[in-house]
Amino acid sequence: NSSLHELDPDVAAAVDAELHRQQSTLEMIASENFAPVAVMEAQGSVLTNKYAEGYPGRRYYGGCEHVDVVEQIAIDRIKALFDAPYANVQPHSGAQANAAAMFALLKPGDTILGLNLAHGGHLTHGMKINFSGKLYHVVPYHVDEKTNLVDMDEVERLAKEHRPKLIVAGWSAYPRQLDFAAFRRIADEVGAYLMVDMAHFAGLVAAGLHPSPVPHAHVVTTTTHKTLGGPRGGVILSATPEISKKINSAVFPGQQGGPLEHVIAAKAVSFKVAASDEFKERQQRTLEGAKILAERLVQDDVTEHGVSVLSGGTDVHLVLVDLRNSQLDGQQAEDRLHEVGITVNRNAIPNDPRPPMVTSGLRIGTPALATRGFTAEDFREVADIIAQALKPDYDAEALKARVTALAEKYPLYPSL
Ligand code: PLP
Repeated sequence: NSSLHELDPDVAAAVDAELHRQQSTLEMIASENFAPVAVMEAQGSVLTNKYAEGYPGRRYYGGCEHVDVVEQIAIDRIKALFDAPYANVQPHSGAQANAAAMFALLKPGDTILGLNLAHGGHLTHGMKINFSGKLYHVVPYHVDEKTNLVDMDEVERLAKEHRPKLIVAGWSAYPRQLDFAAFRRIADEVGAYLMVDMAHFAGLVAAGLHPSPVPHAHVVTTTTHKTLGGPRGGVILSATPEISKKINSAVFPGQQGGPLEHVIAAKAVSFKVAASDEFKERQQRTLEGAKILAERLVQDDVTEHGVSVLSGGTDVHLVLVDLRNSQLDGQQAEDRLHEVGITVNRNAIPNDPRPPMVTSGLRIGTPALATRGFTAEDFREVADIIAQALKPDYDAEALKARVTALAEKYPLYPSL
């Protein structure tokens, strides 16, 4: 019954150091967030001990009466949150959710259409050495070279030419909204399933601040830890009883063994939070912060150094900084922001002339800072710090002091 500090001081020290890092720096990785203490409490509970292969009321193990309650709460809450007819809350991650959805709808060798990785798609949407690229015949679609928006004419042309069994709409690095109705129309024309991966923007959808893919897609997958703000994990929503049956069997026993009921409990708690007015207000600040950041990074004092913003702005929780015309590459820009205490990730941008380990882009997101409490005024300050840091004559010490002041203004996890 020893505590972590007593039993394993080495791991405890690394965990403490990570807590300090999160508290003392500004987290702007677009796919990250801060889970509430109650979510972490559920995830750290005795539910970690329980095997529960199967689904609520239909388990292959005894003693599942309490985890059944937890899993059913999670299912009911996410169905209500997104107004979805069917939900599976067992996928261990977003990648697992996508693998299971494809496993349910496709046979190896079937054709899928997905957004190219370098144009903002995810690994699981058909990247060559991902399972999706190995198991299925992938036809990638792209963003338009001029507008940097998904080229729906190309999607339609490729769909008609290749007759895919599945069209995947969704992204990891894209600053605008997709036209789900247009994707569905194209899918229907060629007899394809439409799967929307809303991992990034699910929190915005839950808050009613982004169009929902649920009325349009046969299947919607998501992670639970990005804008949604819960524990790391995945969920699959489906439109019909037939598809839902296939999805359930694809998750278990198709792809996974025992579900992580402690994580499912944490998901349930986060879905309760996501249905609240406080969550909606937070998503509003998330969007406002991203707009403030985009507006700051298109001002002359920044653009004169070759920095610009892909598509000129944002409708979501992230901004893609285009450094193709800058002396600074993605790696250097990431390092520079790290030096002043802001964490972001470099990101390849469409038609990137630099290699993938260097890149000419930065992906900067506002969900974690909005969770921390940042207001428009704070986002104006952080946007200016980023703008100053991307200039050649930046003053690292002065910028770091401004970052520290913001971090101290919003103490993170004060009870831990
Ligand atoms: N789908 C999208 C669009 C993502 O951006 C990500 C993660 O970055 C995933 C799926 C995969 O999620 P996970 O990292 O939980 O496997």
